[in-house]
Amino acid sequence: DEDADLLAGVELGEDGIEYSPALPVVAIVGRPNVGKSALVNRILGRREAVVEDTPGVTRDRVTYKAEWMDRRFSLVDTGGWEPDARGIDASVAAQAEVAIDLSDVVMFVVDAMVGATSTDEHVVRLLRKAGKPVFLVANKIDDARQEPEAAALWNLGLGEPHPVSAIHGRGVADLLDEVMKVLPDVSAVAKREIGGPRRVAILGRPNVGKSSLLNKAAGEERVVVNELAGTTRDPVDEIVDLGGRLWRFVDTAGIRRRVHLQQGADFYASLRTSAALEKAEVAVVVLDVSETISEQDVRIIDLVLESGRALVLAFNKWDRLNDDDLENQDRRRYLEREIEQDLAHVAWAPRVNISARTGRHLDKLVPALETALDSWDRRIPTGKFNAFLSELVAEHPHPLRGGKQPRILFGTQASTRPPTFVLFTTGFLDPGYRRFIQRRLRELYSFDGTPIVINMRVRE
Ligand code: GDP
Repeated sequence: DEDADLLAGVELGEDGIEYSPALPVVAIVGRPNVGKSALVNRILGRREAVVEDTPGVTRDRVTYKAEWMDRRFSLVDTGGWEPDARGIDASVAAQAEVAIDLSDVVMFVVDAMVGATSTDEHVVRLLRKAGKPVFLVANKIDDARQEPEAAALWNLGLGEPHPVSAIHGRGVADLLDEVMKVLPDVSAVAKREIGGPRRVAILGRPNVGKSSLLNKAAGEERVVVNELAGTTRDPVDEIVDLGGRLWRFVDTAGIRRRVHLQQGADFYASLRTSAALEKAEVAVVVLDVSETISEQDVRIIDLVLESGRALVLAFNKWDRLNDDDLENQDRRRYLEREIEQDLAHVAWAPRVNISARTGRHLDKLVPALETALDSWDRRIPTGKFNAFLSELVAEHPHPLRGGKQPRILFGTQASTRPPTFVLFTTGFLDPGYRRFIQRRLRELYSFDGTPIVINMRVRE
């Protein structure tokens, strides 16, 4: 059709979120200092992607879009938090656990110059139980003379060791060629069944009430997954009947099974969050109204925005503010203020005030999810969108810049999920002006509950 012709050759801009429904997932696992970050950098082919290995550094970003020989996949980097010696076994096991649940293929990195340690052997046991394809990567083999060190890793029982030098790049291409042979085209963990129940991730920092919400929502209505035609059994998801329709709550195992870690718990929480977002269409971010909105809450919301998924905010534990005493009145007032200050950038997200404990107002969740998903799916016809643009420009022209004024020649919605627009312009539009366009779009077409992406194609 006409739109498709116009869009031929248009890629989403570097500022845009390129939404990819079901990319297969490769996870990189291994002890600290074996070279996981170097391998991630090497695969991504850009050095700045991952911060250098610094012990104890926490990164929020754990999923990267990668590509090899025209095949695209998600790369999950579990190396963002490097534990001290005491916590090593527990945290490396936690990495492996996440990787096993949420990836299609695992790369297990070992420092070949050190050889297999007891921590490595611990992980090997977990990986073997999982039954997913595992590539044993023997890193730090910088030249051919060191290859016997790699061969020594046969005795881990994970099959052939793949000798590489992540720093110099040696062997990485061969490794990726092998990985591509077993990597599915569509992720088996993402399971995007067309027409199946829509996929919801329940997110939030520890103790806000995620598992309470899940338990209350699932209640007695829980459906046994394999009774459902066309669904595949996935022990980490649960199908729940809510408001007369079925929903797939993704990665519920991650909510129910708590990783008890003294240190690094935040990092593994973000790992879970990112992985759950990969699979979800809409996220419910749970906040605890009895506590101050924290940086961690905002960070989780920002991960949802970055992922391009639809968003609903669930303010939980309202039963705690029931008594109309002064303290609660204060808290309620502060909460309003915190929402205005810290959550202004997601003022468009539907909000529900609930109590997972009493079940109060849980029925409000379904309409909120439906609103968010409708917006996420919404498409504005090209004609309408251009009429909208002309009107907006006539009313509020772009400010002059150095005597010149960038003009918008034409625009179209390149995709849904989330709504992504491309503007063809004669110059760069100011970020402020782009935000103005977004605001207007929201006012007119009520994109409640979804991020909107606006990309530019500048025609010189
Ligand atoms: P999660 O870590 O986010 O899964 O949080 P949990 O569901 O385990 O809840 C943490 C604590 O908060 C538990 O003690 C719950 O009983 C309590 N909790 C959860 N929801 C509510 C609620 O709506 N009201 C009150 N008062 N407590 C709640």
